[in-house]
Amino acid sequence: MTVHPKLPSAPRKFQNLIGGSWGDSQGGEIVRLSPAHGVPVSVVPRGTAADVDKAVAAARRRFEGGGWAEIPAASRAAILRKAADLILQQKDELALIETLESGKPLWQSVNEVTGAADLWYYASGQAQAMHGETFNNLGHDSLGLVLREPIGVVGLITPWNFPFYILAERLPFILAAGCTVVMKPSEHTSSTTLMMGRILEQAGLPEGVVNIVTGYGDPVGQAIVNHMDIDMVSFTGSTRVGRSTVIASAANIKKVSLELGGKNPVVVTADADLDKAADGIVYGVLHNAGQCCVSGSRLIVHESVEKPLTERILELMGKVRVGDPLVPENRVGAIVNETQMTRILGLIDQGKSQGGKLVTGGARMEPRAGYFVEPTLFTGVTRDMTIAREEVFGPVLGISTFRSTADAIRMANDTEYGLAATIWSSDLRKSMDLMRGIRAGRMWINTTITGGPEMPIGGYKQSGLGRETGPSGIDEYTEVKSVIVDLGARQPWVI
Ligand code: NDP
Repeated sequence: MTVHPKLPSAPRKFQNLIGGSWGDSQGGEIVRLSPAHGVPVSVVPRGTAADVDKAVAAARRRFEGGGWAEIPAASRAAILRKAADLILQQKDELALIETLESGKPLWQSVNEVTGAADLWYYASGQAQAMHGETFNNLGHDSLGLVLREPIGVVGLITPWNFPFYILAERLPFILAAGCTVVMKPSEHTSSTTLMMGRILEQAGLPEGVVNIVTGYGDPVGQAIVNHMDIDMVSFTGSTRVGRSTVIASAANIKKVSLELGGKNPVVVTADADLDKAADGIVYGVLHNAGQCCVSGSRLIVHESVEKPLTERILELMGKVRVGDPLVPENRVGAIVNETQMTRILGLIDQGKSQGGKLVTGGARMEPRAGYFVEPTLFTGVTRDMTIAREEVFGPVLGISTFRSTADAIRMANDTEYGLAATIWSSDLRKSMDLMRGIRAGRMWINTTITGGPEMPIGGYKQSGLGRETGPSGIDEYTEVKSVIVDLGARQPWVI
């Protein structure tokens, strides 16, 4: 592989942000190597449980001491808007480090950073739109007030697949609500979260509102989910850690919001436009090298069009350029780390040994400096196979066939997950029946993996709890206080 001029000659060093001060950790440092190039690109603190304690104390002080939840929403909104402006000004710098740490194509990182700014602008509007209700119908002597208040100190744990974008789906809404926060990004992709801390400082955010502790899930993530002085945890990642977060939340009954895994079905009816569907299906499974919680990894196609659709998918998978994320023509970059790549290759092996027919791909790609996996297609996938049930989180598509719409709905729902689903169909009735029958939090009809700040996101079943973004994205981070005001002469209770 030729060395790209955008590769840094030395890794960039970052510090944590606690109570308005930037600093290292007693725990040491973590050096991140680019998964596409194998060179060191960043160094972040290896945080400890003691760092989390300090960060929670700072967030609590700010939440209770004033200066954030109590200020006019217009002032909070102005800071969020300024932060969005600064994101756009620093777009190229943010996108480059995102690509160097995650392995995703640079053009894609630029789109994600721009999309993130959009979320910050949208959430700034929600700060001012947030309001309660009144009940003026309780009788002449009573008035009912319903107040929305910030929930308090939020612990925010984010993953490595869309580090800056997933942060933007949550953090500005948390801040708009008036909460303070302690965040832990994935140890693989911490830099853009730390850069966001600096941006918020430049935008005028009071110290202690946002605190960032980088490090490993154990101990930093665990210290957050177990912390008795955190009121809510927002976690995005694996269902395994999501489940342990729910269990840990019992200690102080903290609220939990979760966006977890998916095994997302893509249903193609006999009448679908197969050219459009094939392109959408290839995008849906290869976007971000398949490391996407809403990735369309289970293709359920009407048996009458399986052959022509498979041929089209094969042709497109053969054309997609996979490789160095700094080369603009490449659509698919690297897998985030060796563990994930080994996991994907292991699941591909299980697909083969359990009777799936490997039609293309299935192996690690050269050059070996980075972790690249070939676009992979299996046909003849049945419900009992591991690749039909487990989230692969890689560029691997499995095809099964159906006969009736009822069959397709049953097959689509035959999973413990319910995050997303896609339908390709020209028949309005069939697509509506499928849409109503499939149990998933996000759905697309004749398109896939698109959206924007206006749309709520979240999962059914074991894919999650709660909803982020959209008109009520801020509600997740609030408590509701119900107040009755008696205006009349009180009737004595004691007689
Ligand atoms: P994890 O769930 O382990 O990682 C997500 C986040 O949780 C990271 O910040 C991680 O930190 C942190 N974390 C890890 N362990 C704990 C813990 N015990 N308590 C609190 N926080 C913790 O995902 P993996 O990176 O291990 O990926 C495994 C699989 O999870 C993937 O193959 C994929 O199937 C799924 N996944 C789903 C995502 C989604 O968007 N829904 C995103 C990422 C993964 P650290 O990185 O330091 O371990």
